[in-house]
Amino acid sequence: MKTSPVKAYGTKAPDADLQQMEISRRELTAGDVEIDIHYCGVCHSDLHFARNDWGMTQYPVVPGHEIVGTVKRVGEDVTRYSVGDLVAVGCLVDSCRTCDNCKKDLEQYCPEWVGTYGGYDKHLDTNTHGGYSETIVVDETFVLRVPDNLDKAGIAPVLCAGITTWSPLRHWNVGKDSKVAVVGLGGLGHMAIKLADALGAHVTLFSRSKSKIEDAKALGADAVIISTDEAAMERAAGTFDLIIDTVPYAHDLNPYVATLNTNGTLVVVGYLGPLDPMLVTVPMIMGRKSVAGSLIGGIAETQELLDFCGKHNITSDVEIIPIQDINAAYERMLQSDVKYRFVIDMRTLKQ
Ligand code: NAP
Ligand code: ZN
Ligand code: ZN
Repeated sequence: MKTSPVKAYGTKAPDADLQQMEISRRELTAGDVEIDIHYCGVCHSDLHFARNDWGMTQYPVVPGHEIVGTVKRVGEDVTRYSVGDLVAVGCLVDSCRTCDNCKKDLEQYCPEWVGTYGGYDKHLDTNTHGGYSETIVVDETFVLRVPDNLDKAGIAPVLCAGITTWSPLRHWNVGKDSKVAVVGLGGLGHMAIKLADALGAHVTLFSRSKSKIEDAKALGADAVIISTDEAAMERAAGTFDLIIDTVPYAHDLNPYVATLNTNGTLVVVGYLGPLDPMLVTVPMIMGRKSVAGSLIGGIAETQELLDFCGKHNITSDVEIIPIQDINAAYERMLQSDVKYRFVIDMRTLKQ
């Protein structure tokens, strides 16, 4: 298949910095949309993937799955989008479209789902490459429409940080009578607070950092508990209907399970791997409490969220960086030194 060379930023090894490289984008098939990328958010998963934290990375990798841009060209059968439309691409660019999960708009749980980067591009028989690049070519089914009343950079993180927290909020029916807690105030955490607050819930943040208390309240949290304060943790026993845990590394879930109400659920969205220390089942059994996981969200649910953000004027709090600062941004993200999402101005790649 014919391809075009495109400038991108990526890495060829887990211990190498990201650097400028050239990748190939496929020629448009009849159903494809070519997008000129304006902004791309920086997710902690980009860092995990670039550094092979999950042991599954194939190099080279070009991260980026919070993509906002405009339609540059469309294939002959494209009906939903026209040249110039403001669009977005999140974490998924394809799936089998026939399995039970696909039929239920749960493409993220399709056994053949294709990630925006590090997935398998059947057209080119190579890995997919993400949004740290000039352009991307995506089947229109996996392209989303962006409300035009929102800041273009601020909407980018909705495509991953937003949908990853929105999906559990919706699945566990959060509304105005819900007591929700969020663990960790980073990219996912700050979107979780904004979205749970917009759904009318009472929202509490668990954070290690006293310095984030005022920010959390400004974002919409009603309360903040410093997770290292054992007395405060004990006072919160039996409180929450839903806890969304965004912490990227192994940590003790047991103190958080204790703060769930009867029938409450702690949903892990951050850390991927074996728990250490292990979960103690006693409080789960004695209070019918659940510990669950959740992966991003489907295409229809992501469009629902974008529309909800448009209606409620919700965007992410972002620090815009040039692509040349990406390696420094990764180091700052590891120190939790970002308020609250880096977004790359992709025009800086053209310089
Ligand atoms: P982030 O911006 O770096 O935020 C993570 C937050 O967790 C930090 O701000 C910090 O909050 C807390 N934290 C960090 N290290 C910690 C540690 N060692 N112990 C305790 N708390 C710690 O990351 P993000 O982009 O929000 O991503 C969070 C995680 O979600 C990543 O692992 C990412 O791969 C994953 N993710 C999962 C999905 C999914 O579909 N399930 C989708 C996207 C991302 P405080 O300072 O407030 O404590
Ligand atoms: Zn992500
Ligand atoms: Zn499927």
